[in-house]
Amino acid sequence: MKFDDLNGRVAVVTGGARGIGYSLAEALASQGCAVGLLDRLPDVETSAERLAADHGVPAAHAVVDVTDPGSVSAAFASVGEAIGTPDILVTAAGITIWGDAEHVDRETWGRVIDVNLSGTFYSTQAFARPLLEQGRQGSAILISSMSGRVVNVPQHQASYNASKAAVDQLAKSLAVEWAPSLRVNAIAPGYILSDMTRQFTEQEPELAAQWVDAIPAGRMGDPEDLHGVVLLLASDASRYLTGQTVVVDGGYTAI
Ligand code: NDP
Repeated sequence: MKFDDLNGRVAVVTGGARGIGYSLAEALASQGCAVGLLDRLPDVETSAERLAADHGVPAAHAVVDVTDPGSVSAAFASVGEAIGTPDILVTAAGITIWGDAEHVDRETWGRVIDVNLSGTFYSTQAFARPLLEQGRQGSAILISSMSGRVVNVPQHQASYNASKAAVDQLAKSLAVEWAPSLRVNAIAPGYILSDMTRQFTEQEPELAAQWVDAIPAGRMGDPEDLHGVVLLLASDASRYLTGQTVVVDGGYTAI
C-alpha cells in the first residue's frame, strides 16, 4: 500500500501507546508521516521511541488524559513544537466498562462518556484550531465502533454503545462545520484483538467464541485490518470524502 502524499505529513494519534492507536500510528509512519502519540499511559514514551526506530520517522509523545481540555491543548502544542503542526488526527483513546444499565452509577457513566465522547471532541478541537486559523487543510479520523449502530451481545455496555453513536454524529457535525478546510470521518471497527478485548478472549474463551460465531469473516479483526481505511481517509485520495463513518467489522453489522 502506498499513499505518496502522506510522506512528510504530521499525524497525532490519541490512545497511541498501544492497541489500535499504536498500530494505526505505525500505518501512518510506514508512509513517512511524523507521528505524535498521546496517551495517559507513561509507556507512550517507549512507544514513540519504538515507532521512530522501526520506521525512521520523527516521533513525539505526551502523557495526557484526553478528558482534560487544557492538558490536551498543551499536548498538541508540545507535539507541534517537536515535529510540526499536525494535519492528520486519529482519536483512538477509549474505554469500555461493562455493567447492567439499571445499576450503572453516575461516576461510571460519566467516565465512559467523558473519555469516548468528550475526550474525542477536545482532541479534535485542539487539532482543528491551528489549521482553521492558518487556513490549512487537514483530516481527522475518529475511532468510533460498530457498537454505535448495533448492540453487542451478551455483554451489557449501554454507556459505550451510546458514546460511540455520539462519536459518529460528532464526526458528521464537525465535518459540516469545518468544511472545506478540514475533513472529519469516523472508522467503526468490529471486534478487534487488542488489549481491550484480549482480556476477554484469554479469560472467557466461550464469550469470544460467541462473538466470532456472529462474524461472517469467521474471525476477530487485527488492528492491521484497519490500516487501509485509515490511510485512505488520511490521504488526499479521499479528498471528497467527509462526514462519513466507515464500518470495518468483517461483515458483523451486515446481518
Ligand atoms: P486499548 O485499551 O488497547 O488502548 C486504548 C488506549 O487509550 C490505552 O493506551 C488507554 O490507556 C488509552 N486511554 C484510555 N483512556 C484515555 C484517556 N482518558 N486519555 C488518554 N488515553 C487514554 O483499546 P483498543 O486499542 O482496543 O481501542 C482503541 C479504540 O478503538 C477505542 O476508542 C475503542 O473504543 C475502539 N474500538 C475498539 C474495538 C476493539 O474490539 N478493540 C472495537 C471497536 C472500537 P489505559 O490503558 O490507561 O486505559
